[in-house]
Amino acid sequence: MFTKDTLNLWYSGQGIWKETPKNNWDDWRWQLKNRLTQKVKIAKLLKLSEYESAGLDIANDKLLVSITPHFFNLIDPDDPNCPIRKQVIPTKDEGVCLSYENEDPVGEEQSMAIPGLVHRYPDRVLFLVTDRCGSYCRYCTRSRLVSNAQGYGFRPNFEQCLNYIREHKEIRDVLISGGDPLLLSDDKLSALFGELAKIPHVEFVRIGSRLPVFLPQRITSGLLSALKAHPNLWMSIHVNHPKECTVELKNACHKLANAGIPLGNQSVLLKGVNDDLLVMKSLIHRLLMMKVRPYYLYQCDLVPGSSHLRTPVSKGIEIIKGLRGATTGYAIPQFVIDAPGGGGKVPLNPDYIEQVDGDVWVLKNFEGNIFKYRSV
Ligand SMILES: *Cc1c(COP(=O)(O)O)cnc(C)c1O
Repeated sequence: MFTKDTLNLWYSGQGIWKETPKNNWDDWRWQLKNRLTQKVKIAKLLKLSEYESAGLDIANDKLLVSITPHFFNLIDPDDPNCPIRKQVIPTKDEGVCLSYENEDPVGEEQSMAIPGLVHRYPDRVLFLVTDRCGSYCRYCTRSRLVSNAQGYGFRPNFEQCLNYIREHKEIRDVLISGGDPLLLSDDKLSALFGELAKIPHVEFVRIGSRLPVFLPQRITSGLLSALKAHPNLWMSIHVNHPKECTVELKNACHKLANAGIPLGNQSVLLKGVNDDLLVMKSLIHRLLMMKVRPYYLYQCDLVPGSSHLRTPVSKGIEIIKGLRGATTGYAIPQFVIDAPGGGGKVPLNPDYIEQVDGDVWVLKNFEGNIFKYRSV
């Protein structure tokens, strides 16, 4: 499916926007203004299949369609199975909803202490700061609220959320997500991180953002200064396929890393996108080259209308098994299922324990060879 050549290419440049002045292209607000949102415009650039055409007709009732020019350029117009295309161009399959899918697939609403603040784990909170993203992933876990296509009307009150964090001294870790936090202005981010820095019990803050991928232009010197308002800020980005690792993303990641921000990556395992050992290996090797540590690989959540992108759970375990021993340990993410009903993240691993007999552990290594370890 992927030749060595496509996996080795680090894409770069303006692609089909080659006539656009470079200062516009490099301006993140220009990229946002020129996102592809309408079927007629997309159809001018891509030959849409019947499935996609029907998908674009129903998508706006579920999750808006919006694709930055930077990301759109990564779509191969000649490949109907392009892994980039599948992530952002809806198909008719989005209308197929299964009985066990759920608008709130990981049970966030029940742990929402106040609007915008999910307090699921004892020592850390998920702080949703916006319902907007740079582009919309068709399998979005928060489709119910993101882009407001379903009329959720998400409006977090930052002061209320900050007060909750101030009052709950057990919170040592704040995860800022959304929507995409990096869509907030530098000033707003700077104010937010400044407030978090003043709370003595908050020792660790991280951002979850796909903007470096959709919009690497957003990583400006102004943003880097704003992020420095917090002395211990980490960031998780979201890359699913090696093609997304452009020269622009690599430069953006190096800027973030050089500004002292440790970087992780969260991927979602998606059918026809990255459910392949060779593709996953290429992705994680590129992540290391970008100074990004693969963190989680998620089994696709039970979002209504996402079954066409979901793989069997065994696929994820098989991929992890194929990586262990075959590549750098740092490159291997933890495969998890975010449990329905608010169970939180549950790790899934290949089984390396053959047998336990008292203090004797019979282990199987990556080559399938058996070793005994006795602890006392
Ligand atoms: C994922 C998540 C976190 C962070 O979990 P880590 O395992 O620390 O990355 C916190 N709160 C919620 C609600 C989450 O979904």
